[in-house]
Amino acid sequence: MDAQADELRASGVRAVALTWVDNAGITRVKAVPVERLEAATARGVGMSPVFDVYGSDDSMTMSDHTGGPVGDLRLFPDLERIAVLQPVPRWAWAPADRRTQEGEPYAGCQRTFARNMTARAAGAGLSLQMAFEVEWFVGLDEGDATTPACRGPAYGMTRVVELADYLADLLDALTAEGVPVDQLHPEYAPGQMELSVAATGPVEAADRLVLVKQTIRAVSQAYGLRPSFAPVVVAGGVGNGGHLHLSVWSEGTNLLAGGDGRHGLTTQGESALAGLLEHLPALCAVGAPGVASYLRLVPQRWAGAFRCWGRENREAGLRLVTAGSANAELKCFDLSANPYLVVGAATAVMCATFDQGARLPPEVTVDPASLAPADQPARLPRSLAQATDALERDEVLRDAMGETLFDAFVAVRRAEVGRLGGMSDEDVVAATRWIH
Ligand code: GLU
Ligand code: MG
Repeated sequence: MDAQADELRASGVRAVALTWVDNAGITRVKAVPVERLEAATARGVGMSPVFDVYGSDDSMTMSDHTGGPVGDLRLFPDLERIAVLQPVPRWAWAPADRRTQEGEPYAGCQRTFARNMTARAAGAGLSLQMAFEVEWFVGLDEGDATTPACRGPAYGMTRVVELADYLADLLDALTAEGVPVDQLHPEYAPGQMELSVAATGPVEAADRLVLVKQTIRAVSQAYGLRPSFAPVVVAGGVGNGGHLHLSVWSEGTNLLAGGDGRHGLTTQGESALAGLLEHLPALCAVGAPGVASYLRLVPQRWAGAFRCWGRENREAGLRLVTAGSANAELKCFDLSANPYLVVGAATAVMCATFDQGARLPPEVTVDPASLAPADQPARLPRSLAQATDALERDEVLRDAMGETLFDAFVAVRRAEVGRLGGMSDEDVVAATRWIH
């Protein structure tokens, strides 16, 4: 450990950012000078538990267990994940876990929840592979304006040419940080880009998302540009998704391939996906956790607004991908979510459902919106209030998260609805455009 700090110092690192993601989906930080890393690793760094009831505007609410000025927790960096940040390598970053002052895991810690669910899966003989897709808008940094940094068309090579150095520097930065990038491309909306990374275990996938977003932010800033990861950047426009790709494995075998079911699903793989579909309205409160999320989650924007599944169907909340390594994509999620809660909640649902022999409903093989209204699959929640109602009814997620985490998370959702729920779409988008 000493050696690690020495090595960081020798390579010019001045400080280490210890981050956690709160229930509003905001990455928050306490930093230590590199010479204090050893002490921070041994004893943690103090922080108030009140952050668990912060809203996305930094206002505070309360839950039965959380709130107010009293109390303290310890933040412990996970040195296995430490990375030297780019393009300013004077900073390193490590995701952190939160413990009580007595050194016990803190019941409200989102990253601990993700790790506990991964362990629960392992106990059931399962391992999960996951990856988040990152979509972002990159604009000129001029106040709150949303002037795209490139003018080229959707998916257009023009955009790559316009932003060639920016994009190449971003790839350099991520490579230097040890992030394996699979793909990079211009997306549909003006100024929108997308990056995908290799799949890995759930906690690491969430850590990776935190690092990728901060790196995109830092490289953008170096170019005088400003990124937005908000669900919607311009009211009425196509939004930024934060799709979660996942596969579930048992004894080295992917349960989403090589079976006798539809598209090669195994019995257990299909049951896990049926479980995800069953719990998807409640999962939306976790993966699409803001009022603005529901301005994105509408039909015919490829956001996955319907509670249905289909192979390669980009309008389905659950898209099955069979090319390459078979996986399922939860398309309805966005990047205002806490990724630790997203991976933990999805894992909890799969653990609870993979061995129930549940079957998927009929596949939807067309754009659901093109069907006669009576034949359309149900919509996923249309508002954060609806999604939160579904979450509160969901015993699997309530039990998996435990009271402290669940209640604080729900309290933040209710506070967000109270603050933003009555605003115009334009005002919601303006209030949430730059914070995630
Ligand atoms: N931008 C779309 C969304 O809001 C996703 C487009 C796609 O990659 O299919 O999720
Ligand atoms: Mg995309």
